[in-house]
Amino acid sequence: MIAIKGERFLEELKEQGRIGYREGEGLFRDAYSANYERARAFLKARMEAAGLHTRIDRVGNLFGRLEGTDSRAPAILAGSHLDSVRGGGILDGPLGIFAALEALRALQEGEIRCHHPLEVVAFTAEEGGPLGGTFGSRVFTGQMETPPSAKALGAAGLTVEDITASKADLSRYGAYLELHIEQGPVLWKKGIAIGLPTAIVGITRYRVTVQGAANHAGTTPMRERKDALYETMATLCRWIDYVREKEDLVCNVGNVEILPNEIGVIPGEVRFAVEIRSTDEGRIADAADRLKNLLETPGSCRAEWGLWVRKPPVALDEELITALEGSCRGLDYTFIRMPSGASHDASPLARVLPTAMIFVPSVGGISHSREEFSPKEDLLRGATLLARALVDIDALLD
Ligand SMILES: [Zn+2]
Repeated sequence: MIAIKGERFLEELKEQGRIGYREGEGLFRDAYSANYERARAFLKARMEAAGLHTRIDRVGNLFGRLEGTDSRAPAILAGSHLDSVRGGGILDGPLGIFAALEALRALQEGEIRCHHPLEVVAFTAEEGGPLGGTFGSRVFTGQMETPPSAKALGAAGLTVEDITASKADLSRYGAYLELHIEQGPVLWKKGIAIGLPTAIVGITRYRVTVQGAANHAGTTPMRERKDALYETMATLCRWIDYVREKEDLVCNVGNVEILPNEIGVIPGEVRFAVEIRSTDEGRIADAADRLKNLLETPGSCRAEWGLWVRKPPVALDEELITALEGSCRGLDYTFIRMPSGASHDASPLARVLPTAMIFVPSVGGISHSREEFSPKEDLLRGATLLARALVDIDALLD
């Protein structure tokens, strides 16, 4: 019998959430900051109190291991990230780590010994930042074709050698499981307890420059202007309207710069970035082509664009998802399969190991905000399912 101790788990989640929390502003826990180190020390102490053998690799990922009956069997890894966006909530990341820790405690208390070793992981620097996001998990899986700049590494106190030395021996791992809040409104709106992501969206970003001509805003007739802002707005409206009609496709525009951005001058140049996300690479390509066509349509301005970021979508492991469905049925939890619109440590992991995720509802779909919230019943269901899933997957991997 696996029994999560709800009070202990929720209290611990709350306690870690105080480390780096500013009243009225949210959680400030940048990777490699003093707050981060404090949170990691707190977690490490809790892991050791739970009888786990801990280790920290050279980039700062923390692991806590519980041996199985066969210490040579590949380990089942479960966790998430311990860093936060600035002004974030206390669940995005830590939920997956502390639920895994609670699951391992519950298994030991229930005298359930898995065949495979179980490891809890707290990945570092998952949130975007100078190191590029999902940093700890990309290092762990050896997906660091272009390491961050020496400056960005130096600011974190790291070297390229630390990256090379922290790549894991992946033959020692059999699966990765990550519990996370949904960060979207789907489960909450539908009143469903558990989401089982089938794929994590790919993200493609382009940088675009629309070149017009700055000129006097009073004396140049409207029809003779090369107004870069007008052309940008007209093009983007048409493009966003196109994307709005599509399924499994979202886009966004950001980092907008208008030059010279003076009220008395016609905008001469606009620079911006666009982002396209989907679990289907074909849909991403279609949306990018559509934008390029619109930008090439002759108008008064010229446009240039270049690829900035390309992270392909990644499918999660069908066998693990099916096992999780069985675990949900065993616990009598409602569940649906769904895509993940946000990137996670599970993305790099899924490229090298059988990987699955568990989502619990986010009230109002709010995330990356101090308003982020999930009711405690949902958090407990997530932790209970994770514990159950570890046992079920232990049997599956045999
Ligand atoms: Zn997260």
